[in-house]
Amino acid sequence: MNYQELKAEENKYVMNTYGRYPIALDHGEGAMVWDVEGKKYIDLGSGIGVNSMGYNNKTIIDAITNQAHKLMHTSNLFTTEPMIQVAKKLVEKTHLNGKVFFANSGAEANEGAIKLARKYSFDKYGEGRYKIITLVNSFHGRTVTTLKATGQDRFHNYFFPFTEGFDYAEANDFESVRRKADDMACAVMMELVQGEGGVLPLDAEFVKQVEALCREKDLLLIIDEVQTGIGRTGSLFCFQQYGIRPDVVTMAKGLGGGVPIGAVLAAESCSNVLTPGTHATTFGGTPLVCAAANAVLDTVGDGQFLAKVKEKGEYLKNGILSIGSPNILGVRGMGLMLAIIVEDGKHAAYANKLLEKGVIALTAGKNAVRLLPPLTISKEEMDEALTIMKEVF
Ligand SMILES: *Cc1c(COP(=O)(O)O)cnc(C)c1O
Repeated sequence: MNYQELKAEENKYVMNTYGRYPIALDHGEGAMVWDVEGKKYIDLGSGIGVNSMGYNNKTIIDAITNQAHKLMHTSNLFTTEPMIQVAKKLVEKTHLNGKVFFANSGAEANEGAIKLARKYSFDKYGEGRYKIITLVNSFHGRTVTTLKATGQDRFHNYFFPFTEGFDYAEANDFESVRRKADDMACAVMMELVQGEGGVLPLDAEFVKQVEALCREKDLLLIIDEVQTGIGRTGSLFCFQQYGIRPDVVTMAKGLGGGVPIGAVLAAESCSNVLTPGTHATTFGGTPLVCAAANAVLDTVGDGQFLAKVKEKGEYLKNGILSIGSPNILGVRGMGLMLAIIVEDGKHAAYANKLLEKGVIALTAGKNAVRLLPPLTISKEEMDEALTIMKEVF
């Protein structure tokens, strides 16, 4: 079927919840992807930061294929090796001496972290200490609870009543966080680079102050690394560049290199809070997705690979800036999580124009053309994208 035919069927059978780009994708190779009409694109979106290892990656495909032949799924009522391997790698590479719970998505990982924080506080202090401080302009997911955790009013509509117990502080305003940290608070949850909010890195000083406040008040520091994690910013986790020690780290997007997996990593401070019967999932940590995550972590967890991500990020950033267009107001972000800043409200128009010319880019916030290319993107692929960007901007 061509795009028009597919779109007609989609409109008929699939819920209309997305403003999709006007193409249907068919297959990919490296950072390149082809639509059903055979047109080629350089993908600087990787899904939404998911295809971290690029398309048709042999290592991941082999890992999935071999595991599929052995054991695709079993329930969490049984022990399986791939899950343990992923957990061990995450714990060892973060030096958090903790433990991992596996989920299936970012929102679910955050739900797990929220439950963990509330139970941590309940176990120690009893009822009433349930409030979780999040930041204005954050994004934490689409479930009824994680929507409320998201510090943007436009997400707090229609689905009333939302889960209570979230309070929003201003990013990079420590006094604002301190004011919210009253006797009802049990945790602070934040992204270190606000992704959906516009690719906004938090100030290092602010993050350090929040960490100290969490220690002072025994609040759990939950870092939402669903977008920033797994090498995206040039370290395995972004928190490692901020020099902090979170209590809980959540992850998802890039962890499976394309398969759906999420995880909650709890440091030793709270790794035994969730106990049998308090949290569970049917699919979480199933062998198939853990085989993929193992392959991703073996590659991305390597220091040289991560150094390359930083180099590529610099190269792409400098390349964009050297276009020297007055329509490019700046580039911000870390590693290969970048945003081209344009005039407010013009970001979608630029993303559409880029798509027409053969570059897939995402949008975020009110003025960010967001780039989350595969971490494996080559210099040649970046150069090709830069040539097209030059035309468009
Ligand atoms: C994408 C995202 C989520 C939600 O992840 P899903 O897999 O869509 O549920 C949560 N937090 C952050 C920071 C994200 O970028």
